[in-house]
Amino acid sequence: MFRCYICNEKITTDMDTIGIQCENCGGRVFYKDRPNVKKELKAR
Ligand SMILES: [Zn+2]
Repeated sequence: MFRCYICNEKITTDMDTIGIQCENCGGRVFYKDRPNVKKELKAR
């Protein structure tokens, strides 16, 4: 799952496609949206 870096819209286009754009704002910068990224680090 990817999200637009600018408007946070979900990107439904296949990321393998070259030259995809955000359908909402036309942005070309995306980031990976990972649902469970919570990492708990226990400091000692
Ligand atoms: Zn966008």
